[in-house]
Amino acid sequence: MHLIRFNAKMESMKYQEHTVQRGTRILLHCCCGPCSTSSIERLRALGYSVELYYANDNIFPAAEWTKRLEELRKVAAFFSCDIETSPYNHESWRESVKGHETDSEGGERCSLCFSYNLELAAVHAQEMGITFFTTTLSVSPHKNSMTIFSIGESLEGFVPFNFKKKDGYKRSIELSNMLDLYRQDYCGCEFSRNR
Ligand code: SF4
Repeated sequence: MHLIRFNAKMESMKYQEHTVQRGTRILLHCCCGPCSTSSIERLRALGYSVELYYANDNIFPAAEWTKRLEELRKVAAFFSCDIETSPYNHESWRESVKGHETDSEGGERCSLCFSYNLELAAVHAQEMGITFFTTTLSVSPHKNSMTIFSIGESLEGFVPFNFKKKDGYKRSIELSNMLDLYRQDYCGCEFSRNR
């Protein structure tokens, strides 16, 4: 199948206005349950069949990783989505951001973190035979969507959805409240937790 390649700048203007043949599979890298809610809803509205992937070695401690996964499972059940999980390997993630522990949030450590998780998602999509993948990371108003897109564009199959647009973040809060989801108060890693 011919792969769609989106230009990030163009996509930022026209994002989400494309529709696809109903049932087109897309792997959604999910950072947590709350951010996944409005992302799934939007992808479904465009015709995608959404499969969830929880790959977040950045999250610390392990109990928090488990807690966020449990919340995502509630979302998966609500939307009747399949969900797969990458085994937790925080040490591997720490290695990938080595030397950037003291970077401020939004800096180089976060770019490396996005890259780490998106690469896992790209590999998993290929293994699953899913042509397209994207991420819920763009829901958060604290994360720069253009940084995420510039990293994703180097990976085959990445589709740059700017989920925070069109009140996507607000909608994620509405749906999270409706599902009574836990909403974390730090991004994920120990450095964001300790700030
Ligand atoms: S602050 Fe968030 S995005 Fe940045 S490195 Fe930590 S977990 Fe990753």
